[in-house]
Amino acid sequence: MILILTPNSDPQGAEYQQLVGFLDQLPNIQYRMHVEQGVLQRLTEVYLIGDTAALSLDYMKSLPCVERVVRVSEEYRVLGRHKDDTRTSEFEYNGVTFSQDHLHIFAGLCAVDTPEHVERMMQALQAHGQVCTRMGAYKPRTSPYSFQGHGKNCLPYVFELAGKYGIKVIAMEITHESHVEEIRAALHATGNPTGVMLQIGTRNTQNFELLKIVGRQQEFPVLIKRGFGITLDESLNAAEYLASEGNRKVVFGLRGMKTNMGDPHRNFVDFAHVPVVKRLTRMPVCIDPSHSVGTRAAGPDGILDIMQVVAQGVVAGANMILVDFHPAPSKALVDGPQALTLAELPHFLEDVALARETYLQRVALAKQYVKG
Ligand code: PEP
Ligand code: MN
Repeated sequence: MILILTPNSDPQGAEYQQLVGFLDQLPNIQYRMHVEQGVLQRLTEVYLIGDTAALSLDYMKSLPCVERVVRVSEEYRVLGRHKDDTRTSEFEYNGVTFSQDHLHIFAGLCAVDTPEHVERMMQALQAHGQVCTRMGAYKPRTSPYSFQGHGKNCLPYVFELAGKYGIKVIAMEITHESHVEEIRAALHATGNPTGVMLQIGTRNTQNFELLKIVGRQQEFPVLIKRGFGITLDESLNAAEYLASEGNRKVVFGLRGMKTNMGDPHRNFVDFAHVPVVKRLTRMPVCIDPSHSVGTRAAGPDGILDIMQVVAQGVVAGANMILVDFHPAPSKALVDGPQALTLAELPHFLEDVALARETYLQRVALAKQYVKG
């Protein structure tokens, strides 16, 4: 059960203290306060766990400071959609709003290699009105002998260049808790010129200790990718780990599944699950066409498979696209063969805009035809 308190409820106030006093004496029930400080108001939600079935909704609603009460199912308590649950999925980070209604493109380098490539990438993004990118500093690699990413050494120039070119959010994978501190320190040292969305890669989807640590901080939003060999339910529960620890600024990423039925592509593309994740949870959904398709193969119509699956995901309502680009793919240290080139950026963006327009028209059409 979730109690949603009246905005700006004062923890020192008499009514709040009365509420806490009541909750403290409930048998077999634990509770946890979740506070979200927005620009205009502070929102508090109280999560009750345990023997809540016997609690009456009406009675709980009559308690001091309580505005609304939501009875949640066991699944995905914080991030899930529950009956009569009108809580928003929206969050804002560094001036960019994420929700199940928005769409943002994070085109960029799979792995940071040189400052020149970072600069050319960001320059191109700014020239095309983009304010988000992807930049890998910590790379989880299959072979221990492969390039592992420049790590914290590249962060200062990546952040400074982001500031120079108006980039507001960089998706950056972390593979260890120490990376969060390294990112925070580098942002601070460079005067916070940009923001970072921490990325949990598919290999770490069920690294629960990492999830708990990343979930305990609320400074950075998190993109968590679906595990490539586990069920969707297991991956959504992994996302819930972040939220249950306090960070609800979570985006869920689809990136294809490991199955040899996906042979022509690096992974089996799973973007049909965009609407499924949006139905089961309130998270914005990201698609990663690069790591699911993994090649620059094109169909006889001249359209790259990567662009085809982007269109499929966007037409189905995706909210974020994480996609590999590189100014010189043949020189990329990681995943060059799947990178799109800067010359392809305007084509890519126009194609996405077409698919997005189609999605919005489809939503309007559904409103006309589907009653109730
Ligand atoms: C990536 O986005 O760079 C990446 C390694 O993705 P994934 O975790 O989906 O393999
Ligand atoms: Mn990659």
